[in-house]
Amino acid sequence: MSNKTSFLADDLHQYMLQHGLREPDILCQLRKETATMTNFARMQTAPEQAPFMQMLLRLMGAKRVLELGTFTGYSALAMALALPEDGQIIACDINRDWTAIAQRYWQQAGVAHKIDLRIAPALETLALLREQQQQFDFIFIDADKDNYPNYYDAAYELVRPGGVIAIDNVLWGGAVADTSINDNPTRKIRALNEKIRQDTRVEISLVPIADGIFLVRKC
Ligand code: SAM
Ligand code: CA
Repeated sequence: MSNKTSFLADDLHQYMLQHGLREPDILCQLRKETATMTNFARMQTAPEQAPFMQMLLRLMGAKRVLELGTFTGYSALAMALALPEDGQIIACDINRDWTAIAQRYWQQAGVAHKIDLRIAPALETLALLREQQQQFDFIFIDADKDNYPNYYDAAYELVRPGGVIAIDNVLWGGAVADTSINDNPTRKIRALNEKIRQDTRVEISLVPIADGIFLVRKC
């Protein structure tokens, strides 16, 4: 897994970072703080992915967002900045320490009121949201890869018709196309990619930004 667009040569990637986005200071500060978490920093959403997701939300006029996998809050913060004042994100994670960092930055950015953090295994929160018949415009799947196929099934039920599910890391650093790699997360991501390709209920586009984002629009 990588938090940069690993499929570009380094010089081109640098060029894209310098010319292709305007990262707000608050996101930059959060990214720098997360970078000090040596073993985990790579889990953070890439800076070039944030404006792409913000653009999608704005184009869709999205108001209700669900995120699976929040970590230190970079993607949730980027999305909250793009939502209108009455927009809402339900952010799911199981780690209190990492999401405490997230909450500090959401407060600082003045968007904490838009983000409802749920600390519980995402499958439990998904089941609860279904019971409550909640609907979302946009669902971002970025939690544990072993559950990706389960998350997709639940997300399909929760996204409104015309809404979008965005699944992160679907190229898995290139491992999905390397037949010598057969660990559990790689197999689960491959299985989900194939399941999505065959799912005639949705329109699809796999975008090779960052570590690959599968955009799935419910018909
Ligand atoms: N979207 C985040 C960002 O922009 O920085 C990165 C998310 S990180 C790749 C994956 C997160 O999923 C971790 O914070 C981890 O604690 C969380 N996670 C792992 N298993 C989970 C589960 N069963 N339910 C909910 N969250 C889970
Ligand atoms: Ca990710």
